[in-house]
Amino acid sequence: MKTAYNADQLVVSKFGGTSMGDAACMLRSAEVSLKQGSKLVVVSATSGTTNDLIELATTAEKSSWEKASVIINKIKTKHEKIATDLELPESQLKIMNEMLVELESMSRGIHLLKDCSLKAMDSMQSFGERLSSILFTQAMNIVLKKSNPGSKSEWLDAREVLITDNQFGKARPETQEIARLCAKKLGAIKHENTVYVTQGFIGSTIDGMTTTLGRGGSDYSAAILAEGIKADILEIWTDVAGIATTDPRICPEARAISEISFKEASELATFGAKILHPATLMPAIRSQIPVFVGSSFGAHLGGTWVKKDVEDTPLVRAMALRKKQVLVTLSTPEMLYSHGFLFQIFKIFNDHKVSVDAITTSEISVSMTLDDSALLNKALIRDLEQQADVQVEEDLSLISLIGNNINHTPGLAKKIFDAISDINVRMICLGASKHNFCFIVDGAHGEEAIKRLHKTFIG
Ligand code: ADP
Ligand code: ASP
Ligand code: MG
Repeated sequence: MKTAYNADQLVVSKFGGTSMGDAACMLRSAEVSLKQGSKLVVVSATSGTTNDLIELATTAEKSSWEKASVIINKIKTKHEKIATDLELPESQLKIMNEMLVELESMSRGIHLLKDCSLKAMDSMQSFGERLSSILFTQAMNIVLKKSNPGSKSEWLDAREVLITDNQFGKARPETQEIARLCAKKLGAIKHENTVYVTQGFIGSTIDGMTTTLGRGGSDYSAAILAEGIKADILEIWTDVAGIATTDPRICPEARAISEISFKEASELATFGAKILHPATLMPAIRSQIPVFVGSSFGAHLGGTWVKKDVEDTPLVRAMALRKKQVLVTLSTPEMLYSHGFLFQIFKIFNDHKVSVDAITTSEISVSMTLDDSALLNKALIRDLEQQADVQVEEDLSLISLIGNNINHTPGLAKKIFDAISDINVRMICLGASKHNFCFIVDGAHGEEAIKRLHKTFIG
C-alpha cells in the first residue's frame, strides 16, 4: 500500500486525547496512521479520562466511596461503549475488564488508607493510556484488515521499554536503558508486518514501579520512543492542523505555521503553547528527527514541520501565553557587593526540584517566575525565607514573543509596548535568547495583550 513517505522511512505517530475521543475518532486516527505508514503508534488516554482519574484518586482519598464509585462508573461506561462499538474480541475484552477491576481495587485501597501518594497517583493515571491503547489496537486491526490484510496490530506495554527515574509525577527517562530495550524488543520493527500500539505518558522505574512524565507527556513519550527505535519521522496528531501563530482559542485569527525551527518551537512549547509538551523536542533535536504536527480530524489540511533548518526566519513567528504564574521576589542587603547569593537561592530551587522560568536581578533583589503549583511546596518558601525577604505575587500571566534575532532588532520593544501601553508590565526578560522576548502582566490582562500583539505583529 502506498504511504506518505518512502518505504524505508521509519515513522512514529502520536495521537492525543481528542483523537481517541470515541470509536469513530479512533478509527479515523487508525486510518491516518495507516496512510502515513507508521510502525509505532503512541496514544493518549481518551479525552477527559486523565482528569477523571485524578478526580477519582482525590475523591477516594478525601471523600466518600459513593462519590468515588460514580467516577469509576463514568470511566467504565465510556470505555465499554467504545469496546462495543469496535467489537473488541473476547480476549481483549477480558484484559480491559481486568484493568477496570484493578482500577477499582486500587481506588478502594486509596480510600481505605485515606492516602494517595504521588506513586499511587501515577499508577491511577496510567489506566487512561492503558485502556485507550487496548481499544486503539483493535481500531488499528480493523483498518489494517480492510486495506492491508497481511499485517496486524500489536499492543505493547510502554513500561517494558520506557524506563524512568523514580520522580513520580514528573519522571525523567533513562535514555540509555530505553535505547537498549528498544533495540532488544523493537530492533526489527522496520521490517516487520506489525504496527505496534503503545501508551504515551507512562513509564516504569527499573524495578517495575509505574511512573508518569507529567501532564501532556504523551508527546514526550512519542519523541523518546522515536529516538529509541531510530525513527526518521515523528508525527504528533492532535485536534488542530499544526502549530499556529498563537493559541486559536484566544485569537481566532491565528494562522497555521508551515515550518518552524527546533529552537523556536522549543521556546514556544516551554513558554506555554499547549500544543506540544515542553520536553518533546529534546530527543528530536538530539537525534535530528523532524516532527510533523497535524490534525487527525483533517489530515488533508496539512500542518507544521518542526526541523533544524527552515527557509523563512521572521522576527516574530508566534506568541504564547502561560497563565497561573507567580512572581517571587527575594530581597536582602546581603546581595550588595557579595557573591554566592544566587548560588544559595538556586540550590534551594534545585533541592526542591522546582524550575524557574524568567529571572531579573537588581543590586539587592532577584525576581523570578514559577508555575503556581510551586507554591504548594511550603518547604520551598520556608527555605527561601531563611535567605531573604520573600514577596509572592500570584495570578500573573507570562507573555512570550517567539521569533528570530529578537535581541538584536532595534525598535522591537517600542512596538511591543506601544501595542499594550495601557497594560502594566510587571517584569521583562530579554537578552538571553535570540528567539524569545517575554514579560509578565496581571493575569486579567494576559489574553488581551496576546490579541493586541498578534494584531500588531502577525495581522
Ligand atoms: P492533545 O490532546 O492532542 O495532545 P492538546 O490539547 O494537548 O492536544 O493540544 C492541542 C491544543 O493546543 C489545541 O486544541 C489548541 O487549543 C492548543 N494550542 C495552544 N497554543 C497553540 C498554538 N500555538 N497552535 C496550535 N494550538 C495551540
Ligand atoms: N493523558 C495525559 C494527560 O492528559 C497525557 C497526554 O495526553 O499527553 O495529561
Ligand atoms: Mg497534548
